Amino acid sequence: MKLAQRMIGIGTETAFEAAARARALEAQGRHIVHLEIGEPDFDTPANIRDAAKRALDEGWTHYGPPLGQPKLREAIADESKRFRGIDVDPANVVVTPGAKPIMYYAILALIEPGDEVVYPDPGFPIYESMTRFAGGTPVPYALREENDFRFDPDELRSLVTPKTKLIIFNSPHNPTGGVLTREDIEAIADIARERDITVLADEIYGRGVFEGEHFSIAALPGMAERTIILDGFSKAWAMTGWRLGFAILPPALVDPFSKLIINSVSCTSSFEQMAAVEALSGPQDDVKEMVEEFRARRQIIVDGLNAIPGIRCRMPHGAFYVFPNVAGTDMNGTEMADKLLYDGDVCVLSGTAFGKVGADHIRISYANSRENLALALERIAEVVAKIPASATA
Ligand code: PLP
Repeated sequence: MKLAQRMIGIGTETAFEAAARARALEAQGRHIVHLEIGEPDFDTPANIRDAAKRALDEGWTHYGPPLGQPKLREAIADESKRFRGIDVDPANVVVTPGAKPIMYYAILALIEPGDEVVYPDPGFPIYESMTRFAGGTPVPYALREENDFRFDPDELRSLVTPKTKLIIFNSPHNPTGGVLTREDIEAIADIARERDITVLADEIYGRGVFEGEHFSIAALPGMAERTIILDGFSKAWAMTGWRLGFAILPPALVDPFSKLIINSVSCTSSFEQMAAVEALSGPQDDVKEMVEEFRARRQIIVDGLNAIPGIRCRMPHGAFYVFPNVAGTDMNGTEMADKLLYDGDVCVLSGTAFGKVGADHIRISYANSRENLALALERIAEVVAKIPASATA
């Protein structure tokens, strides 16, 4: 079968493939510690599950409006005022099945063949993949370890050309756990305003900041009308399997999103949207407790990794990822990820799953129990200790 040319550019998300490799080993009787998938290990809070059950019984089982249930769009606008400090018109809120489709719709709506999309390396792999799929040119900007995984504003500016249509950033950041400062975000806003560029602000980890408060670029003057805020329920409310996300859009993008939704999924699950109203409007204690637990685990994983010769790990500032550098073991990230899986029964991702800049790194999701983290650290230390002495000397 001859596939369409556009399929050549499409990439994938390695986390799903790594999980499949790990499951194949488990089928042979091995016990694997899973540190690959970026999802909270907690169950969705009970009040949200109860609201979904109620909504099913109340008959929220039909198609709904393509842009989302009005009650949820209002709840998202209200919460955005509390969380981001910005006034949002519910008319500019769009609900989607997971946050990922927002990348897809934004890029399809904006990018013509030859247009450039500036995105972070390392970064969520779908930014680059979708850009290629749409015929655009992905232009990576580096987030370097020595800069605490923040970008260099001069470098970012130098990458912008008359063809740049979209700048993507993600803070708190997958895969590094880095968080941009207000000044960093102001630098992006300055470039976007000067050069008339749209910004995709991936704020999916915004409620998982360990120090200070989350800052949204849409709060800066003149930015709401050129910013696509990507957000959703997967991470903060532990709802990955529900597939529920939302965007806050510049008014000019609402109708294009509506058409793309009608052409692809029609609408997002109606009863789930009713439960999402409870997620936003109900008690937030579970969300806060999860962040506190991640904070404790962050310390365990960072201390544990830094105690292993040849590995160095920066303290992340948000989300639930660390991005340790393993070059001191004489292995790169891909070699180390393979070795840890096959010799150590620990599943992590290679840094290259997120771009070239992360070649010496592995990504660990510490959304796993403290016991499993301790076990993984023990196993990683054993694997590294067996690498020939010259490597870690
Ligand atoms: N953005 C980033 C940076 C992510 O890490 C993820 C999920 O891993 C998403 C967006 C997508 O979230 P969802 O599962 O709601 O589609």
